[in-house]
Amino acid sequence: MSAAEAGVESVLASFAAHSAQTRGRVHAETEVIGRTAFQRDRERVIHSAAFRRLEYKTQVFVNHEGDLFRTRLTHSLEVAQIGRGIARALRVNEDLVEAIALAHDLGHTPFGHAGQDALHECMAEHGGFEHNLQSLRVVDELEERYGGFNGLNLTFEAREGILKHCSLENARKLGDLGQRFIARHQPSLEAQIANLADEIAYNNHDVDDGLRSGLLRLGQLDEVSLFARQAAVVRELFPQLLERRTIHETVRRMISTLIVDLIEESSRRIDAAAPRSVDDVRLAQPLIAFSEPIRREADALKSFLRENLYRHYQVARMTNKARRIVRDLFAAFWDDVRLLPTDYRERAESQRARAIADYVAGMTDRYAIREHRRLFAVGEV
Ligand code: MG
Repeated sequence: MSAAEAGVESVLASFAAHSAQTRGRVHAETEVIGRTAFQRDRERVIHSAAFRRLEYKTQVFVNHEGDLFRTRLTHSLEVAQIGRGIARALRVNEDLVEAIALAHDLGHTPFGHAGQDALHECMAEHGGFEHNLQSLRVVDELEERYGGFNGLNLTFEAREGILKHCSLENARKLGDLGQRFIARHQPSLEAQIANLADEIAYNNHDVDDGLRSGLLRLGQLDEVSLFARQAAVVRELFPQLLERRTIHETVRRMISTLIVDLIEESSRRIDAAAPRSVDDVRLAQPLIAFSEPIRREADALKSFLRENLYRHYQVARMTNKARRIVRDLFAAFWDDVRLLPTDYRERAESQRARAIADYVAGMTDRYAIREHRRLFAVGEV
């Protein structure tokens, strides 16, 4: 065990992912003094080009709609922050949770889910497009930062966490990493935490952004018990508070309620299952979970957001445009690969559809809009 591992990881539970026991990297590398394998994973993600692009990719609202809305970058930072807190409380590996959290959305297309749905349709005949799989593709293949290999050469554990979902068909092509979807096993606790931290982050920040945008009104949220319960406490404690601060104080308490519940319920499940190693965790039922009542409330909040925010007509107008941009770009490159930048064009010779999907998926919102204009608007170059 290196000094770095001894320092950071000596306090971890036996069922945590320990970097000394990593299943390793695809390309053998000498580990360095002073940083654990998972810390290096996290740092590799932060230095990647795909990570910087997250700043200009939509979460729900297109990047130029307002400076205060979440982007995929701030979303990923929130996921990492929430995930680290949960990991610390459960004595599992914070660095691995953070690496997974920062990387989990790297494969997202421009324009959020609308962009990904459109790209999936374009790729229907060519193996489809899944953003989780694309995040893995970014860290395994597409980043070009090292002399000796493609991608970031992350550890098995980081890659396992990034691949949150995967169709069985794709799982079969993925070897080791796909195995758990076929065998119906769980990933590490760190991966499970990153997954639920993602949910806590987006449910809460979408309430906040929804209210800020005016697409949601405060009164509507009275039907959402998770929100209404905390809002009642806030009004009682601070009756004079202006609406903006009431919202922030309420959302803050909602996040905290979810995190505390998740830690308590997960601790109970871990105690009951008594795993002794990360391999025991993989064979157990999911150990990171909300309690039943909070799970129900969180699901109700999700449905509320789906009905009232994601399907709001103003969001629908944006997603309609986004879909068209993605479809147009794909079709133009498909018809004439000479329109692609050189490196993608070279790849398109052997894998035409996949090279185009990689190029389009890598675009930020504003880059896609500009590229669309460059290709279709007469008088633009
Ligand atoms: Mg996410």
